[in-house]
Amino acid sequence: MHGKHKLGKQEPRHATTLASEPQESRPVLLRQSLVALTAEVQRNGFPGFRAKQVYHWLYKRCVESVEQMTNLPCPVREWLVASYRLGGAEVVDRRDSRDGSIKLLFALYDGRRIESVLMSEGPRRTLCVSSQVGCSLRCRFCMTGMGGFVRNCASDEIVGQYLATRRLLPVGERPITHIVFMGMGEPLLNCEAVFGAIRRLTDPQAIGLSPRRITVSTVGVVKGIRRLGEANLGVNLAVSLNGSTEDERARLMPFRRRDRLDDVLEACRRFPLARQHRITFEYVLLDGINDSPQDARRVGKLLSGIRCKINLIPFNPVPGVLPFRRPPQRRIERFREILLEMNYTVNIRYSKGADIGAACGQLAGHADAQLLYDARGGGEAGEPSASVPRGARRTER
Ligand code: SAH
Repeated sequence: MHGKHKLGKQEPRHATTLASEPQESRPVLLRQSLVALTAEVQRNGFPGFRAKQVYHWLYKRCVESVEQMTNLPCPVREWLVASYRLGGAEVVDRRDSRDGSIKLLFALYDGRRIESVLMSEGPRRTLCVSSQVGCSLRCRFCMTGMGGFVRNCASDEIVGQYLATRRLLPVGERPITHIVFMGMGEPLLNCEAVFGAIRRLTDPQAIGLSPRRITVSTVGVVKGIRRLGEANLGVNLAVSLNGSTEDERARLMPFRRRDRLDDVLEACRRFPLARQHRITFEYVLLDGINDSPQDARRVGKLLSGIRCKINLIPFNPVPGVLPFRRPPQRRIERFREILLEMNYTVNIRYSKGADIGAACGQLAGHADAQLLYDARGGGEAGEPSASVPRGARRTER
């Protein structure tokens, strides 16, 4: 099965109350630590173990509502409903790729949209999650930044992408084994929510994934890299290098608050790596821009002394919107060979899901890439214009 696959449910359940939801003042259940929830349960006259049961329903059984927590007495359920909003993210659309990957579009409580991509490779099943609605960085080769920044995701909205995806997987199917923060947004500009989500994802009482199976990918936010190290979460760090000199990076990632390459590499050198761990450096290969043998040699020099591996990502086009091309295959191979000769581990990462607009750099908070092209032609197919990336509109004639 591939191509467009509409879910029966097109709008979030709470669509009718969206206007009033943002004022909703109840705390969010999926943001509560077990300690805090236990204290609250007891304060309200219930035995503390009820909190553990709630956690089990939320994170092991992935229920969508308090009503489904069937072993809780009615008074506990009523108290939960009155005191908390569940939180999370709701799947409103999905696209299935020919290569088996699935792109999911989520609605958040305020109607905002984000996307995740589920990819399968051998025994691995990786979920690529979003950490922000839109992105404040405007990397020139990335679709997400074109639409601008809307807001940070809250921790429940990040964990919610995982929970909602798990609900879609038939019982007995291979579970999600890995999480990468490589969807929409810059995770290290939203540290609090991202670290909170990682705690929930790795807490054995909650989801219980090994931190070694979680990767945070950053454009190179020095302060964030430092904070990630200090938080001692044990997750992997990936840094998007994308250029071999300060100037090249400045041209490709022209945002004001970009940290200097030297400082980024220094932060990487200081990052407390677990034993046998390596930092991943990602490098988008753009034809004629950053893909020369000289670039490769410079990358090799820059990274010397850092325990790392390098992932080369041949550019994924969004035709008519992003003004770059993927380099010819021999040039990609040559780049890799040079780094191999310098004794690096180098992988070429061919992104999955390009046919459904799910490859690296293609996420726009809009499951149907076709609508972007429609928008360029003037028809916005009933979608709010906020979800049409500015880059798309710029080319309107
Ligand atoms: N903000 C984070 C995570 C999101 S981007 C970061 O920058 O790392 C995840 C990866 O996709 C980054 O390495 C980014 O450079 C890469 N990427 C973005 N647009 C791309 C495109 N069009 N083709 C290939 N890779 C792209």
